[in-house]
Amino acid sequence: MREIPEPALSERTTLRLGGCAIAELILETPHDLDILPERLRCLGGSPLIMGAGSNILAQDGQLPLVLVRPRYTQGPEMTAEKNDKVFVRVGAGTPLARLLRFCLKNGFSGLEGLVGIPGSVGGCIAMNAGSYGTETATYIHHIQIISDNHIKTVSVADARFGYRSFSIPGEKNNFIILEATFVLTKSERNVIGKRMFHNFFEKKSKQPLSAWSAGCIFKNPDPQTPAGRLLEEAGFKGRSRGGMSFSPVHANFLINEGSGSASAALDMIDEARTAVLRRFGIELTPEVRIVPCRS
Ligand SMILES: Cc1cc2nc3c(=O)[nH]c(=O)nc-3n(C[C@H](O)[C@H](O)[C@H](O)COP(=O)(O)OP(=O)(O)OC[C@H]3O[C@@H](n4cnc5c(N)ncnc54)[C@H](O)[C@@H]3O)c2cc1C
Repeated sequence: MREIPEPALSERTTLRLGGCAIAELILETPHDLDILPERLRCLGGSPLIMGAGSNILAQDGQLPLVLVRPRYTQGPEMTAEKNDKVFVRVGAGTPLARLLRFCLKNGFSGLEGLVGIPGSVGGCIAMNAGSYGTETATYIHHIQIISDNHIKTVSVADARFGYRSFSIPGEKNNFIILEATFVLTKSERNVIGKRMFHNFFEKKSKQPLSAWSAGCIFKNPDPQTPAGRLLEEAGFKGRSRGGMSFSPVHANFLINEGSGSASAALDMIDEARTAVLRRFGIELTPEVRIVPCRS
């Protein structure tokens, strides 16, 4: 296990905000899972399982967190095929983009809607990331987790997936997803490529993909009421303060302009929630994971 003291969350999240955690533990071999509980006990603080940090708003200052990164499983690889279906196993720490490239190269269809999401496979499962009508959960066959020092295989039927949420009944929330097996459909490579290309350019034309953000900051209250529209109508599109701004391209993207801070981001989130509640009677819920949680 590799251990890095006092890792800066601002260097590990796409919003580029946040102070330093106690330590970062990088799981490089399966053996590291055996020594993880003892190491966590010694270090104190709360564990934060991290993927690519693309959905995390880390608070400023010294953070009582220990970052845990599962990195030891590799892939993607095809493990079985049945008629037109293929089973693809991939480690949780693998970038989603690498999985999508593998699917394109081999003609495996299903995940094309997820193109452009900058997360890891584990993060996409934990968030049930979705876009263009595709949700990660739809294509999962089973996952492997570690919980209470035991490695377990959980079939998709035994997990609960919702809109940007994932849980396993009977498990506490601090389990680590180690790997997943997806079930995909064999298809023409050029058809998959065209779908990915189309989805990527759609996304790029509507979202500020290269800015420092965590994607959509709020969940959509319902599919007909996008949070971005409520924010825009409440006058937040383009509004900026303390180095943070609601993007002029897509109001639901909170951007760090370079000099932002987590406290400025949280102030803007609170201000926007209050304004939307007053104006529309709708309570916005953050999609981004705020760490440590605010009480
Ligand atoms: C430009 C941009 C565009 C985006 N577009 C979309 C989009 O279209 N759709 C969408 O759904 N999201 C989108 N996102 C948000 C984000 O990319 C997704 O939520 C993604 O799934 C997060 O993955 P991650 O690896 O970065 O997770 P992280 O941000 O590292 O973590 C997110 C949560 O997952 C948990 N987690 C991560 N890995 C594991 C693991 N192995 N085991 C257990 N828990 C784990 C963390 O503890 C945390 O609670 C976008 C973000 C950006 C910056």
